[in-house]
Amino acid sequence: MHIKEGTTQAFIGLEQRYGARNYHPVPVVVDRALDCLVWDVQGREYIDMMGAYSAVSHGHLHPRVVAAATRQLQKVAVTSRAYHSNTLGPFLEKLCSIAGFDRALPMNTGAEAVETAIKLARRWGYRAKGIADGQAEILVARGNFHGRTNTVISFSTEEDYKAGFGPFTPGFHHFDFGSMDSIRAAATANTCAVLVEPIQGEAGVIVPPAGFFRELRDWCTQNKVLLVDDEVQAGLGRTGKWFAFEHEGIRPDALILGKALGGGLLPVSAVLADAPVMDVFTPGSHGSTFGGNALAAAVALEGLRVLEEERLVERAAEIGPYLMERLREVQRQAGPLVRDVRGRGLWIGVDIDPALGSARRIVEKMAERGVLSKETHETVIRFAPPLTITTALIDKAVGIFAEVLAEART
Ligand SMILES: *Cc1c(COP(=O)(O)O)cnc(C)c1O
Repeated sequence: MHIKEGTTQAFIGLEQRYGARNYHPVPVVVDRALDCLVWDVQGREYIDMMGAYSAVSHGHLHPRVVAAATRQLQKVAVTSRAYHSNTLGPFLEKLCSIAGFDRALPMNTGAEAVETAIKLARRWGYRAKGIADGQAEILVARGNFHGRTNTVISFSTEEDYKAGFGPFTPGFHHFDFGSMDSIRAAATANTCAVLVEPIQGEAGVIVPPAGFFRELRDWCTQNKVLLVDDEVQAGLGRTGKWFAFEHEGIRPDALILGKALGGGLLPVSAVLADAPVMDVFTPGSHGSTFGGNALAAAVALEGLRVLEEERLVERAAEIGPYLMERLREVQRQAGPLVRDVRGRGLWIGVDIDPALGSARRIVEKMAERGVLSKETHETVIRFAPPLTITTALIDKAVGIFAEVLAEART
C-alpha cells in the first residue's frame, strides 16, 4: 500500500483541529507496530527506542498477550467489582508472589494508583500511627513525577504542570532527591509516608547516590513512616531487576506499578502492600469501576508470565549495559557536548549541551531517520526500548543517533 505524503499532515491536522492541545507529539503518524518496530501511515519503518514510556516493555502486540486478550474477549471483559471474576484472583496472586507482598489493589492508570497510595498512607497514618485527623504529611522529592491528577500535581515542582490549576491539595513537603539530610529536615511527627521514584524518569533519568534507599529504608522504619515506592516506570524489569528497589536490597512498604503492567495493551496499575497496611481499606472506602476488570486482569497476568518465562528482566540486565556502552561511545566521540549518559538497565538518558540545539530537535531528526525517542526537559534524550530489543537494532538506532549528533555539531 502506498499513501501520499499528504496523509501524515491530514491526520495531524485532524488531531489539532478536534483534539485538546495538551500534547506536542513528534510528527509521526503511527499506523501499526510489532515488537520493536513501528510503521507510519506512509509505510515508513521506525525502531522504537521509547517503548511508550515503559508501557510497551513486552514489545508491541506481544503474541502471547494478544492471544490472552483475544481469548478473554470471547468470554467477558468488564464485570465491575460488584462481582468476582475468574481472572482477577489469579492475576493478584501472581503479582503478589512476584513482588513479595500480601495484597494488591488494582486500578487503571499510574496516577490513579498514586492517588490510591496517598489515601492508603494517610489512613494508615491516622489509624496505625495515631496522627491527628487531617494532619498527615507526605514527603515528596523535588523534580518528582507521579502523574497528572489535581492532588498529584499539587506537589509537583514543575511550573508547567501546575500553572492555573490551583487551589492545590495540602499535606505535601519537599526534599532533595538523594539527600537524607533534606528528608530529616522536612519530616515532622505528622509524616506518614515518603513517596518517591527509585529513579526520577521525567526529571531526566536521575539515579540517586548508591546507598540512599538503604538509608531511607532504615530512617522510615525508625520513624514509623511508610516508604512508598513509585515504580510505575521503573518496575517490571526496566532497570534490569523486577523492581528497582532490589538494586539496594531493600523492600518498600507500598509499591506502585503501572505502565508495563498492562502488557503493552491496556491501562493496568496496582498498589501493593502487606496486610497490616493494605487492610486500612475497607469495603466502600475506595474503588474504581474498571480497576481489575476481567480483561485487564487476564492481560496483565499473561504479561507477567511473559516477563518471567521469556526472561525479559534478565534480558534487560544483559542488554542494558550494552546500550549504555554504545551510548558512551557516542559520548566519547562527541566530547563535552554530551554532558552525561546515565541510567540503569534499559533506561538511559543522554544529556546534551544546549550548543547542540534542543533535545526536541535531535528527537525530530532521529524520527526523520527512523528512530523513535523522546526528549525530557530541554536537554535530555531518553532511550527506553521494549525489553525485547536486540543488539542489532540497538546498533542501528545508536548509529543514527550518532549521525544526528554529528550533524548538529557542524
Ligand atoms: C507515568 C508515571 C505515572 C503516571 O502514570 P499514568 O498512567 O500516566 O497516569 C506515575 N508515576 C510515574 C513514576 C510515572 O512514570
